[in-house]
Amino acid sequence: MSQPAASILIVDDEPQNRKLLETLLRPEGYLTQCAANGEAALIAIQQHMPDLILLDVMMPGMDGYQVAEAVKANPCTSHIPIIMVTALIERGARLRGLNSGAEEFLTKPIDRAELWLRVRNLLRLKAYSDFLQNHSAILEQEVQARTARLQQFRSAMDATADAILLASRSALRFVEVNATACDMFGYSRDELMQLGPIELAEATHTAAAELLDFMVSGAETTEFREVVLRRKDGSEFKVEMSRTAHRTGDDWLIVGVLRDVTERDAAQQRLHQLAHYDTLTGLPNRTLFYQTLESSLALAADSAIRVAVMCVDLDQFKNLNDTLGHALGDELLRQFSTRLVKCVRVRDSIGRLGGDEFALIVEMRDGQDCATQVASQIRDFLRTPFDLKGHQFAVTASIGISLFPDDASNSDELMKYADTAMYRAKRAGRDTFRFFTAQMNDEILARLELETALRNALENKEFTLHYQPKVRLDNGRIAGLEALLRWQRPGVGLVLPKQFIPVLEETGLIVRVGAWVISEVCEQIGRWARASIEPVSVSVNVSDRQFLEGDLESLVTRSILANGISPELLELELTEGSMITNTERTISCLKVLKSQGVQISIDDFGTGYSSLAYLRRFPIDTLKIDIAFIRDITSNPDAATIVRAIMQMAHSLKLEVVAEGVETEAQLAVLRSQGCDYIQGYYYSRPLAMPEIETLLREDRRLPMPVGQPASPPKTLLLVDDEALTLAAIQLALHQEGYHILTAQSAAQGFELLALNEVHVILCDQRMPNMNGTEFLNRVMELYPDTLRIVLSGYIEIETILRAINCGAIYRFYTKPLDNRILRNNIREAFRHHGLLRARAGAQPTDLRQSEGVTTH
Ligand code: C2E
Ligand code: MG
Ligand code: MG
Repeated sequence: MSQPAASILIVDDEPQNRKLLETLLRPEGYLTQCAANGEAALIAIQQHMPDLILLDVMMPGMDGYQVAEAVKANPCTSHIPIIMVTALIERGARLRGLNSGAEEFLTKPIDRAELWLRVRNLLRLKAYSDFLQNHSAILEQEVQARTARLQQFRSAMDATADAILLASRSALRFVEVNATACDMFGYSRDELMQLGPIELAEATHTAAAELLDFMVSGAETTEFREVVLRRKDGSEFKVEMSRTAHRTGDDWLIVGVLRDVTERDAAQQRLHQLAHYDTLTGLPNRTLFYQTLESSLALAADSAIRVAVMCVDLDQFKNLNDTLGHALGDELLRQFSTRLVKCVRVRDSIGRLGGDEFALIVEMRDGQDCATQVASQIRDFLRTPFDLKGHQFAVTASIGISLFPDDASNSDELMKYADTAMYRAKRAGRDTFRFFTAQMNDEILARLELETALRNALENKEFTLHYQPKVRLDNGRIAGLEALLRWQRPGVGLVLPKQFIPVLEETGLIVRVGAWVISEVCEQIGRWARASIEPVSVSVNVSDRQFLEGDLESLVTRSILANGISPELLELELTEGSMITNTERTISCLKVLKSQGVQISIDDFGTGYSSLAYLRRFPIDTLKIDIAFIRDITSNPDAATIVRAIMQMAHSLKLEVVAEGVETEAQLAVLRSQGCDYIQGYYYSRPLAMPEIETLLREDRRLPMPVGQPASPPKTLLLVDDEALTLAAIQLALHQEGYHILTAQSAAQGFELLALNEVHVILCDQRMPNMNGTEFLNRVMELYPDTLRIVLSGYIEIETILRAINCGAIYRFYTKPLDNRILRNNIREAFRHHGLLRARAGAQPTDLRQSEGVTTH
């Protein structure tokens, strides 16, 4: 398409000049127009917008300069090039022309070629500048249109309730985010644009990695997922995120749309709460309770656990509600539910089925007592009245219990039966509980009755003590008694401990009853002393709860002092159980009592913990081997081995051993051969009530010695000391030990007694007037080599004594002053050693010169 012809305005006041120029330009294809003066020229310019102006300078009216200035001052015409046509050629006129805006000059007379060239060049320049101007205007329009579109898009994005984030996959940076995203994360748009998906991910590495994987996985798919993200302030929140990926050249543009689901979750939670929980008490409602029951039953069936379902109903609630008004009635239910929660363990469940009806699921891992305990606890908790706006209201509850799998195996039936049982409890006078099964009720009722009866037994003086003797095997004599509790239950008769001690222990009554036993035994020891019955030690069984809850230490001390008895006549028997519960407290209590002289033994040894390490920590004198081992000792090699091992271990720890429950001669024979110290059991005597045990003590009936074996001569101990008081003290300390004790106040008397008696062990003071101890024992060694000789001395004479030891005259030497318990242990040890050496030497008289060393206890 050909360009339109350029139009040229010729402005000149001289018509021949205008004509000339027109004539010169037209043949070149230009369109011409003419104006005879400046004013007409400006009008023509406005109207026709010529492409070029040929402007005469000298004109009447507006001259050429003024016209040029006006054209250039108008933005619509300023782009039109002007060629000034003038006769003036001086410099000042040219500068003025340029200054007023003219682009070129032509001087008259006009050179045709110059005119054409100047016109052509200027028109070309104008065409180029027009093109540029037009093009930039188009560009500008385009930019404006785009900006407007982007603005519209942003506004639309910003108006969206979801957060929108665009990220570059390769840079892992956001390239665009909307206002909701900024609000959601708490960043300004600029801040957010500096970040990328990783910075918004939850703190954990795995979550960040997962989010990243999800965001940058290149597939162009839309996926939904819930993720936890982090705000600028560090708080975390959950969003539902959908993501699309778009290819952009080599990169992917990831578009993430995020919705905060915190409120949605909360709403769902609220809905769940409303659907499953009771609004008044916050407890699970009937629906949730049934669901829980179903799953508890499924679990219990798998693991063979019993489950109790309990229906709890407040007694007379309707009346209360009517009198108090519903607001206070509701408050009562709220308080009641709080108490109910305290009655169950974490693994149990509670629900409010409606009104004043509550239900419990109790797992019975520890026997059926659990349900009874929970029921009793509910009743106990209700004993404290409820405080309703300052008024106290006592309320009771009736409870019905059904058992899985005993009564039924599905939830509906169990609930129905628990309900039936609850109505039975109501009929039985309320404030009580009933099992669905009759037999259960009988057992529970019997147990409750037993508890009530035991609570009164102490006040009603229904407890009594029987005493069972314990016998020394080497002389067959009674060496002590064990006090055993009996209950003379009205209407029933004599009840043995195994039927009531566990109940006393569970209810804690054992603390009071145990205290009674201790004071009764101390009183009895006192009575026997006054009745001139030979002193005999009595052991008392002590349960762990007495260490934990009773002040055993001061109780024992008070009882001993009150009755003026020797502490050595009282022995405490504890079980291995008390050694492991509250060990430190038990040890410190026992140590105090032990230091006063009280004897300590471990009962039923071998059935419990039986740890040597533990034994060493306790100040124990005696081990009592449990009847379970003794029962089989003649027939079961394992039992015999265990008993022998216990005996050896005990002896090496300097403990004495009592075998419990010896019933036959054969058991006795085995125990004898194993070196047992004492036996207790029906073989010698059953536990006896008061007159019988006294008769037995007075009779001093001995255990028959084995057939064919003469009763071994009593262990004879010769004490030599010039001080009568020391002799008496040692005799008293050894009184219980059953030795035949001879005393001499001088070496001469000692020799006399040695000639008249078969003496086994001699304990002699070093400092004596006429002949000192070592000298005396040196001579005795020559005369009676199979005696075991011990000297009692201070450290001063140590050299003399060492000489005596070295030449074999002395077996041991003990330093003064001697503690009674150590003395007893040492003398026991000496006799045991003497016996061993004699046994080793057979019937041959032995020279006991070989000394074992020096003992300073
Ligand atoms: P324990 O302390 O081991 O008492 C020995 C039990 O064995 C006594 O039973 C006794 O009668 C029984 N027994 C003795 N010789 C024989 C025998 O040859 N054959 C058989 N089969 N049994 C024999 P008891 O009196 O029924 O006492 C049972 C348990 O009750 C005692 O066992 C003791 O643990 C506990 N107990 C008794 N009195 C008290 C007490 O006052 N306080 C405490 N905490 N517990 C006591
Ligand atoms: Mg005992
Ligand atoms: Mg026992």
